[in-house]
Amino acid sequence: WEEVSIMDEKNVPIRTYQVCNVLEPNQNNWLRTDWIPRSGAQRVYVEVKFTLRDCNSLPGVTGTCKETFNLYYHESNEDRESYIKESSFIKVDTVAADESFTQVDVGDRIMKLNTEVRDVKVTTRKGFYLAFQDVGACIALVSVRVFYKTCPLTIRNLATFPDTVTGADTSSLVEVRGSCVNQSEEREEPKMYCGADGEWLVPIGGCLCNPGYQEKSGTCKACSVGFYKAKSSDPGCSKCPPHSHSVRDGATVCDCHSGFFRADSDPPSMACTQPPSAPQQLISVVNETSVVLEWAPPRRLGGRSDTSYSLECLICQTGSHNYPRPGSGSGSHLCLPCGSDVLFSPGQTGLKTTRVVVSELRAHTHYTFIVHAHNGVSQASGAGAAQSVSVTLTTNQAAPSPVSFIQATDVTRHSLSLAWQQPDRPNGVILEYEVKFYEKDQRERSYRIMRTFSRSVDVTGLNPLTVYVFHVRARTAAGYGEFSAPFEFSTNSDPFPLIGEGVNSAFLLLSISGVGILLLISAAVFIISRRRSKYSKTKQDSEEEKHLNPGVKIYVDPFTYEDPDQAIHEFAKEIDVSSIHIERVIGMGEFGEVCSGRLRVQGKREIYVAIKSLKAGYSDKQRRDFLSEASIMGQFDHPNIIRLEGVVTRCKPLMIITEYMENGSLDAFLRKHDGQFTVIQLVGMLRGIASGMKYLSDMSYVHRDLAARNILVNSNLVCKVSDFGLSRVLEDDPEAAYTTRIPIRWTAPEAIAYRKFTTASDVWSYGIVMWEVVSYGERPYWDMNNQDVIKAMEEGYRLPAPMDCPVVLHQLMLDCWERERAERPTFSQILNMLDKLIRNPGTLRHHRQTHRKTYIPWSMCVWLQSIGLERYRDTLAAAGYTSLDSLLLHKQDHICAFTQQSYINSLTYNRRIRASFIQGTGENNFPKILTS
Ligand code: AMP
Repeated sequence: WEEVSIMDEKNVPIRTYQVCNVLEPNQNNWLRTDWIPRSGAQRVYVEVKFTLRDCNSLPGVTGTCKETFNLYYHESNEDRESYIKESSFIKVDTVAADESFTQVDVGDRIMKLNTEVRDVKVTTRKGFYLAFQDVGACIALVSVRVFYKTCPLTIRNLATFPDTVTGADTSSLVEVRGSCVNQSEEREEPKMYCGADGEWLVPIGGCLCNPGYQEKSGTCKACSVGFYKAKSSDPGCSKCPPHSHSVRDGATVCDCHSGFFRADSDPPSMACTQPPSAPQQLISVVNETSVVLEWAPPRRLGGRSDTSYSLECLICQTGSHNYPRPGSGSGSHLCLPCGSDVLFSPGQTGLKTTRVVVSELRAHTHYTFIVHAHNGVSQASGAGAAQSVSVTLTTNQAAPSPVSFIQATDVTRHSLSLAWQQPDRPNGVILEYEVKFYEKDQRERSYRIMRTFSRSVDVTGLNPLTVYVFHVRARTAAGYGEFSAPFEFSTNSDPFPLIGEGVNSAFLLLSISGVGILLLISAAVFIISRRRSKYSKTKQDSEEEKHLNPGVKIYVDPFTYEDPDQAIHEFAKEIDVSSIHIERVIGMGEFGEVCSGRLRVQGKREIYVAIKSLKAGYSDKQRRDFLSEASIMGQFDHPNIIRLEGVVTRCKPLMIITEYMENGSLDAFLRKHDGQFTVIQLVGMLRGIASGMKYLSDMSYVHRDLAARNILVNSNLVCKVSDFGLSRVLEDDPEAAYTTRIPIRWTAPEAIAYRKFTTASDVWSYGIVMWEVVSYGERPYWDMNNQDVIKAMEEGYRLPAPMDCPVVLHQLMLDCWERERAERPTFSQILNMLDKLIRNPGTLRHHRQTHRKTYIPWSMCVWLQSIGLERYRDTLAAAGYTSLDSLLLHKQDHICAFTQQSYINSLTYNRRIRASFIQGTGENNFPKILTS
């Protein structure tokens, strides 16, 4: 091979390698390239440009002339191999010319250039050599170009695919993973195949522009101002929906104009909206203890269609007509949320309709109802009061609910005794029960009616072995309630009550022991009835007798337990603290704060409760005393005894949970409502207290601290006895300075003198409570000191009748204050007496004192003393001047002489008398009336 310079077709000089030994046989001429680095290529292409002389055109050439040459390659890591054996080369191909030329014209040569391309797989070494073998042809190699192929960098479906070298084989495809362009995310893995000839094939998957960006010629461009794109899958940027805007490029959502909102569930494509305005034209129709509330939809719905309503129910104290907006000053503290027993139909919240029936309300009670309108953006907007409308109303008087259970005891041939529970909702003081009964066979064709004031009655004159049907209904000032469901009981063939059916033990004894014992018992009964003749009962009022039956529970003193925790767990339920929700502080007890709150026990309705807690840092004794109240309370179950819900002892602070009494303690309650109740209402309260005390005395429990401050009042004016704390303190600690711990003004003389606490001393205290109630919370013995009170009692002085106090009530008080405790009435007798008064309200009208003993009130004594006329005390009493007011209101003007100032001084003992004096007569008229 010779290196020769020639001119190409365009007459540009080029270098060539030539060989042309056509006349000599056995030619084997090699021409080899330098080392060619592979550079990652796997298949290389060799393009050879050459010219070749046609053998036939060569004169004198015989069989030795050839018209082809051979192409070889040799792979090697060595870039400078000096000698490579022929046999190391691998043949690629024998290359023939497509065109050969026949002659060379001097000066105008006609060159026919051939271009041949061969490809070869080179995968094993870093590079290779090429070689051209001539075996006797006339050739000129003009150029050799060596190359490999790639699939060029490209972007397809928003994914970039890099420049990729093709595979080693002509049929092989290289799989390539694309990467998402800026501001885009994979929709599905982007993939393509690079074909052997450098073509991209079969695109799969791809990317999507991020939120806030959209595709523009293979890239992702930000949405412009006023436009947004929320999701990558959205086709492109959209204009902001109504009442919204975007202020920056690339918005994913448009912000609402001020005053407009978007609910969490609203799509970004939805217009921004507003909360509704208040519901309109709220009207209420009261029907006894239910209310129908109806309203019109709000004037503005705020551009939405998901308006709903919710109802707030508040119970308000008398006189509170203020709208109780939370935190808006006066009025709010006068209303409390209604209890969970109120029913709302179809519901209380999430209402789609504009009409609700509210039932199970309390009778004659002030309520405020607030109807709120909501929609999807109410919460986001934080809108409150503007969206509601309220109405304040008072429910009607309502008759009591039906009696739910009747029980028969003491069944004989001709009689049976019935007993029943008070209706669930008395809706006032129960004045009477009516029992209707008939023989079952007779249906209601002929029936009998009995009336009673107690919750039991003896029905006599019945036929033996006959089934009777009984109904009971209760009456309050609002009239009769519905009759109970029918209860059937049968008389039997026996003249005496059957054992096991509530037999009276006295009766049983009687039948066994014959006439002698009968006489004995009769004598005893006679004596007792003589002593108590003042309080003799009618047959119907014999409820009390039954409680003397065996089987009545007796109170167990928790201090008899060695381990106080055992007592608490026997009598009180442990409550999980998580079910208590404390709301506010309502008072201060001996051991710490008293709060109100709510209690939700699983499977039961949520109720309002009072929570007493034991403040931190207590001693063992304090813990014991604190929990003893719960151990005592937990043993009682009576509508006039505060009910224990349970205790928290497993975690701190320790708590005692009781029912919640909306009106707090009785003394403060009465002072707040001075003069606002009817006598019947006051007697109703006293009856409740007496009933609770009778229950306690039946259980042989002595309270020791009965006083109006220890009576709690609920929203129905039901009074309940509470505060079982003090009782033991005295007995446990004989050295205590007991005169300071004993509530002197409420305590019977024998209990003060030698600590003889009995049910009879509780009756004394009850008399004081009566006086407190009728005088609307006046302090007993006003501002006299304890020593004077004790002295006055010893001398036989008793509290005078409070203003407007019916004579019978004052007489009952005086009976409770009998010096001899056996002379005092029992709670059972007090209860009967009060029931009689309620039945005959006429007896409560007499205010003048006509009782057999005449007491001169202490204040009058003090006064007479102060003006030096004490000696006239009895004369005045005999003349009927038994109180300062009777003296004051007397028109005769010759009683006694004194100075105006001494009289005024003495009046400070009784603010009510002083008030009436100043109002009624005027201080200027004073000397005229009282001169002698
Ligand atoms: P106490 O320690 O029992 O005298 O309670 C202190 C004050 O808390 C009482 O005077 C009441 O005002 C109040 N209180 C206690 N128990 C209740 C209750 N069950 N419901 C409402 N208020 C209560």
